[in-house]
Amino acid sequence: MYRFAPSPTGDMHIGNLRAALLNFICAKQAKKGFILRIEDTDKERNLEGKDKDIKELLTKFGITWDAFYIQSHNLKFHRNFASKLLQDGKAFCCFCSESELEAKKEEAKKLGKAYRYDGTCERLSDLEVLECQKPFVIRMKKPPHALNFTDEIKGELSFEPDDIDNFVIMRADKTPTYNFACAVDDMLMDVECVIRGEDHVSNTPKQDWIRECLGYDKKITYAHLPIILNEDGKKMSKRESDSSVKFLLDSGYLPEAIANYLVLLGNKTPVEIFTIDEAIEWFDIKNISKSPAKFDIKFLNYLNREHILRASDDRLESIFGKGRANLAKFYTQESSLVNEILGKIDKIYSKKDNFDKWQKEAVILRNEILKMEIPDDFAKFKSELMSKTSLKGKAFFMPLRLLLTGVDHGPELSELYLFIKDDIKEII
Ligand code: GLU
Repeated sequence: MYRFAPSPTGDMHIGNLRAALLNFICAKQAKKGFILRIEDTDKERNLEGKDKDIKELLTKFGITWDAFYIQSHNLKFHRNFASKLLQDGKAFCCFCSESELEAKKEEAKKLGKAYRYDGTCERLSDLEVLECQKPFVIRMKKPPHALNFTDEIKGELSFEPDDIDNFVIMRADKTPTYNFACAVDDMLMDVECVIRGEDHVSNTPKQDWIRECLGYDKKITYAHLPIILNEDGKKMSKRESDSSVKFLLDSGYLPEAIANYLVLLGNKTPVEIFTIDEAIEWFDIKNISKSPAKFDIKFLNYLNREHILRASDDRLESIFGKGRANLAKFYTQESSLVNEILGKIDKIYSKKDNFDKWQKEAVILRNEILKMEIPDDFAKFKSELMSKTSLKGKAFFMPLRLLLTGVDHGPELSELYLFIKDDIKEII
């Protein structure tokens, strides 16, 4: 099984979508199932309706799932496994209050040392634990040895017991933390490979350690994807609009182009422009570079244009309207964004009354065009219209352009003509 496990806490970030795409591609390659799991353990940060948004977005990108889970529905398993860890002496109850812990963190900070839990509650006797009436969290005991794993992208990684620390697995309100819920669910759902952002690298040994303590010996393979940097070389924050998938879609990037871009990012691929189905043929996670990838919107623009040019007529007509596929392709010379192209096409097809200082000429041209038989060839159209109206030069071309396109600048009319001639009487 492969899985994508987003938290419903905000707009989907391109980093998340990249993880979803790569897990999906690898699942298809391996002919394994793909799970969508909404990780809603952080109640305070969960946003209403985000799970629906996530499903809709993934669907737009052609990502389908074989099973869907809401993590909080697994609460009984999380609680049972936490009890087991307590019974087996692999975890302990910790009664330290927030303020006590805060004071110790401050102390460590003053001494310039990294804070680690100091083991206070691990040393309590069973009786002390039984008699204590304070609220408590459950923490893991540290592993007695270093934990290693091989990352498909980063290679061998090793973590000392102190890096693992006595991390919390159950909160005082008896809900699991992310690391615990994720470790248990990956085990229960028989996940064999996890591809996710490198911000999770330090969580991996913790999750492996939880499963080891539960007696699970199946090894999960990991690939941690390098972060995405913005154009200034800084980590792309969730707040940057370019990093939101919804923002990119709303700006006029096609899902096909965004998906292509995200698979290409920091990768060595046999071709530059491809579909997800094509990527399933050759994708190899080992070709992803260890170094951070830089987000390059100009390159995404280029890919968007290429995907418009390659899209089927049906696909283009669903976006730009019936019979407008070729016109949309033609307008990629003016813009790479669907919205902008759509704006230009809409202008062509919308009612035009304002011709500035060419009002009189435009009306003359319109009347003549409505009367004439429309030739296939622009040269013929132009000469016939010129001779009928006696207009020439700017006084011919400017009003004609305004009549045909609704704006005073744009592509060569002689080229555009081919794509609009059949509709010409309707658009003027
Ligand atoms: N819910 C985590 C996130 O959205 C998932 C990390 C993982 O894939 O394990 O970052």
